[in-house]
Amino acid sequence: MVKEFICIVCPNSCRLKVTATGEEITVTGNECARGEKHGIHEYREPTRMLTTTIAITGGTLTRLPVISREEVPKAQLGRCLETLYKMKLNAPVRCGDIIVKNICDTGVDVAASRSINRKEG
Ligand code: SF4
Repeated sequence: MVKEFICIVCPNSCRLKVTATGEEITVTGNECARGEKHGIHEYREPTRMLTTTIAITGGTLTRLPVISREEVPKAQLGRCLETLYKMKLNAPVRCGDIIVKNICDTGVDVAASRSINRKEG
């Protein structure tokens, strides 16, 4: 099977062609070794960092930006985002607080990427 990807490791954006023959996977189109590693990873189990915002009440802002502590499987991103969209938090929240542990059983925690204080008055 042959799949094509754009390498997203650096701004060069090389066009990777990944060919799997049985257990053997070969990558062409990469200008460096990082591209080969990325192509194989993208072919086997693509993953991405998860970033979004969650509704928060009682704070100086109404949405809290969050980010996953590690990459999550690309196929699970939609389910993870749905879970986060349904949540409503209460201020205050500190940057780095774990907002969801093991989101959707991916083994990855989601953390606040900024602090939001309580709104006075
Ligand atoms: S293959 Fe190497 S040079 Fe090309 S985009 Fe990927 S990291 Fe950059």
